[in-house]
Amino acid sequence: MPKETVMLSQNLNPFVQGVLKDDYELVTMPEGGPGALGEKAADIRAVVAFGGFSGVQMDALPNLEIIACPGVGYDGIDTTHAAERGIVVTHTPNVLNDEVADTAIALLLNSVRRLYAAERFLREGRWETEGNFPLSPFSVKGRKVGLYGLGRIGLEIASRLEPFKVEISYHTRSPKKGVDYAYHPTLASLAEAVDTLICIVPKTPETHKVVNAEILSALGPDGILVNVGRGWSVDEDALIAALETGTIGGAGLDVFYEEPHVPEKLRGFDNVSLLPHVASASVPTRQGMAQLVADNLRGWFAEGRPVTPVPETPVPPKV
Ligand code: NDP
Repeated sequence: MPKETVMLSQNLNPFVQGVLKDDYELVTMPEGGPGALGEKAADIRAVVAFGGFSGVQMDALPNLEIIACPGVGYDGIDTTHAAERGIVVTHTPNVLNDEVADTAIALLLNSVRRLYAAERFLREGRWETEGNFPLSPFSVKGRKVGLYGLGRIGLEIASRLEPFKVEISYHTRSPKKGVDYAYHPTLASLAEAVDTLICIVPKTPETHKVVNAEILSALGPDGILVNVGRGWSVDEDALIAALETGTIGGAGLDVFYEEPHVPEKLRGFDNVSLLPHVASASVPTRQGMAQLVADNLRGWFAEGRPVTPVPETPVPPKV
């Protein structure tokens, strides 16, 4: 039987290619987009796309059936257009929960205890010449931690926080069944109640720059902001102002508004820990995500049932 043709976007990690190369004919998306494929475009029934895939790109592929995203956040894919065209979109939930939750905890510890600055101090040889590194002004113990988002990853972050002797509460649009953490119906009320805010919400119109000057001010001068969701959710100018004036005490960020651009001012703070969007970026986790991409394609081509379609493009049960 001839192999199905799958188009890969250009910025995929090699694991995706590794898990697909034996079963499919793989085509890399040309620099000029799928429209530059010419006649070959008609062969493509599946696309693996990381970062984004627009309606125009979909329309350049007349026989496209499925777009598999090797990530849990699929905000760059035009799911409305996909749904209109009957194209299924899949993502990779759950397989990265632990890695991302671990990274959130690392950012929390780094920013509260200023461990990044302490390590830099040592590496620069300053311990020997200047003596001990200054005491960190804060501890993690006793903090009131608010989770903005308590989904798959938020729950893993919360379970890791429990042994840290902190108080946990959360804000989502509706209370989560079966959890004992205090629920806040608004982000403002959560921010008033806590000194530490961890953001793990998707990029949607409702989550745009909601962590603004008011929310940051409510956290108070001991306040710490950790963001492992999307940079989209934080007003970076307001964050920089809050750090400059001591309105909050520090931040730990894996994600930024215009990646890979990170504002120069953010890079200058010793009480801020910055990572280049690496929360899920380990070999085992990226392999797990690649495998789920392969499982989704196999499920689709074998029986029209991908494993993890996104809610915007549901696959009806087989009759
Ligand atoms: P889930 O869909 O499981 O959880 C999302 C949570 O956000 C839910 O608790 C949801 O609750 C809440 N939420 C959604 N919209 C709003 C809103 N408008 N106001 C308040 N709460 C809201 O997603 P995951 O936990 O799997 O992933 C979350 C996001 O993390 C991803 O979409 C992705 O953008 C980001 N991410 C970042 C990574 C990184 O590398 N830094 C890696 C992986 C994910 P409710 O619906 O009740 O409001």
